[in-house]
Parts: sequence; C-alpha cells; structure tokens
Amino acid sequence: MPFNGNGHNGFSPAQFDAAVMTTYGRFPLTLTRGKGSYVWDDQGRRYLDCVAGIATCTLGHAHPAMVEAVSQQIQTLHHVSNLYYIPEQGALAQWLVEHSCADRAFFCNSGAEANEGAIKLARKYAHTKRGIANPLIITAQASFHGRTLATITATGQPKYQKNFDPLMPGFAYVPYNDIAALESLIAELDAETPQVAAIMLEALQGEGGVCPGDRAYFQRIRQLCDEKGILLILDEVQVGMGRTGTLWGYENLGIEPDIFTSAKGLGGGIPIGAMLCKASCDVFEPGDHASTFGGNPFACKVGLTVCQTLEAENLLENVQQRGEQLRLGLQRLIQQYPNVLEQVRGWGLINGLVLQPESSIKSVDIVKAAMGEGLLLVPAGPQVVRFVPPLNVSADEIQQAILSTEKAMAMAIKRQHS
Ligand code: PLP
Repeated sequence: MPFNGNGHNGFSPAQFDAAVMTTYGRFPLTLTRGKGSYVWDDQGRRYLDCVAGIATCTLGHAHPAMVEAVSQQIQTLHHVSNLYYIPEQGALAQWLVEHSCADRAFFCNSGAEANEGAIKLARKYAHTKRGIANPLIITAQASFHGRTLATITATGQPKYQKNFDPLMPGFAYVPYNDIAALESLIAELDAETPQVAAIMLEALQGEGGVCPGDRAYFQRIRQLCDEKGILLILDEVQVGMGRTGTLWGYENLGIEPDIFTSAKGLGGGIPIGAMLCKASCDVFEPGDHASTFGGNPFACKVGLTVCQTLEAENLLENVQQRGEQLRLGLQRLIQQYPNVLEQVRGWGLINGLVLQPESSIKSVDIVKAAMGEGLLLVPAGPQVVRFVPPLNVSADEIQQAILSTEKAMAMAIKRQHS
C-alpha cells in the first residue's frame, strides 16, 4: 500500500522521527517505488534519480536481472555460515579477481567494514612482514572512509570525529594530491625506524567534493610504496564497479593498489562489501577476520548479477558517453551562471557541479530546487552538487537531468532574491 501524504501508511514524519534515531538530516520526501532511473514518492510524483542511493543502484531500480537473481536465490539458499563453502561467494570472488589487479577477496556488508578489513590486513602485514611494532596509516584530508571508529579516524574530516574521541591510534593525514606533503611526512615518520604501514586514499574523493586524483601524484605514490615496502590501499567504495567509466577508479590513474575496497555499487543496492588484495599481501589466516553475513549466497548472487550485467549491457561505454554528455550540458550552465557556478569535475558518472566560493547559494539550495523539478541530486559538501545516476541511465534521461538542473538553478536564484 503506498504511503499517503497525511498518513504515511500510519506514519507521519514526526512519528517517524520519534521512532527512528535522528542521525540523518532528511529531506521532506517519502519514496515508495522505483523503476529504471526513476523513483516515485507517496503522492505518486516521479523523480529522475541522479542519487541512486548515493552511487549505489548501479542498474537503477527493479532491473529484471536483479529481480530474477533475488527471487531465484531467496528460493534456493539465502544464507549459510562461512563454516562451509559457498559457490556464489566463490563465483563472485573469481569474477572480481579476473576483472581487477587483485588475487583474493574477503566479503563483508558495507564500505566501512571493507575498509576495516583493509586496515586490519595492512596492520598485520606491517607486524608480521616488516616487524613494525606501531604501524601507521597515512590518509588524506577531506577523505571519507566510513562511520565505524577506525574509519572515522581514517577519514580526514574533523566534523565526523567530533565527540567520538578517543579515536583509534595509528593514523596520520596529508593534503590530497600534494606529493611534497606526503613525501615529507613519510620522511619525518620513518626518520628513526620505519612506521608507515600503508597509504590509504580514494582514487577520486567523493564525499570530499568530487575531487579526482592526480595521475602523477598516484604514480609517484606507487613508486614510493614499492621503494619502501609500504602498502597502497585504495578505497573504491564510491568510485568502483564502473562508476568512473572504467571498472575500477585506479584504472584512471595508471597504477595498481595492493589492497582495494568495494561496496555501494557492488550489490546494486543489496548490502555487500569486499576487500580485495594481491596474493603478496594476503597475510590473513583462519580466525583473523570474519563476518556472519559477509559473502552469503544471497548477496553474492546479486553482486555477481550486477557484475555480469555491467558486462552484458556494455555499461562502461554508456558511463563514458553519458558522463561526457552530462559534463557538456553542465558546462553550458556554468556559462549561463558564471557568478554562481565555477566548474564541473568528475569521471564517468560521478560528477560535481562546483559553486563559486563566494556564492551565497549553497549546494543544498540547488538540491532542494531540483527536487521541485522532479530531479534528485545530492550535495558533496556545501559547495558541490553531485550527480551519480544509475550506470544504465539513458541519453534522454541525462538531457532531462540537464534541463531540470537549469530550471532548478533559476529557481534557487529566484528564491535567494525573494
Ligand atoms: N568509503 C567511501 C569512499 C565512501 O564514499 C563511503 C560512503 O559514502 C564509505 C567508505 C562508507 O561506506 P558505507 O556507508 O557502506 O559503510
């Protein structure tokens, strides 16, 4: 039964907020149904979904292949313990290692959990292979790695850490895309005895404002890591699984990480995370790491279906073409509103429309105005409006997104002046 505006299926927003912890600042919108690149609210109003669960619904909503995989697997076997061999888990791991630089996979349920696994693996590697007693992991300012205690510590944004101290020991931070700062921090930390176990970065910083990594920066980091035995961990939670027009974000940088993590797009909206690594750094042994739900037949079957559909529908090409189309359209908008808009940046279908630093209009103002035009967008900080539609979005839908953004801009400016 659809929610209705007054009753919300028996739940008003006030009742919702009374029963659900208010950890999210929610927009006043109740979504009840989805198909393809569209979702519908409880009033029956349609929205073009350029949020896709924040870069998660790889194949959009109710894709027939996902419907089939979910229905078939729930009737066959949905969950068993990792005490036993699970064919779907093996098949997904095999697909992932055949389509990446990794040799092995560990499955969990979310991005934060995948990053926790990567941090544990890097620490164990430092202890057992390099004899480092207190391993340090260097991460970037403005990064985002999740909401668990280790991953908020890894996240180089104090706003996510406030009031949750004491944080985890063993992390140090550098500005992103700044090789001199990184080299001097490593020199300082390793001056007496080596302590730096790993460098953990996003190939493109998503939450931090859709900032692509610099190729020369990452290539120098790869060299440094090879010289010093430091592990390079890439957090591909937001940009992996085809979002950037290549299967993995690191392919845009011409390097390979030792460890990388995936979640969000991997299950197309069904919870699954993965930590993948080269055989040379797989130091985990039975009992080192585990997850009750991680790698269950249901999640892995869906994950494999997403992977196979990416290939079967040639979606990487679609991501490249639709991304180009979107950036061109948004560039025209920047010419129209040069006082408000500064630039568009991104790769494939993760793009940020960046506001002028002095603009009094903030990203949330444009997101709200776009909602009124039937378009869902998501801020990436106060200065950036993020576009992360499903990877099978069509040319007509991208055209519609551009037109609706144009109308939203006019509306946001009008509201500012009224
Ligand atoms: N890492 C990155 C780069 C992310 O963008 C996110 C979520 O936005 C996470 C980790 C955390 O993922 P999850 O919310 O699934 O724990």
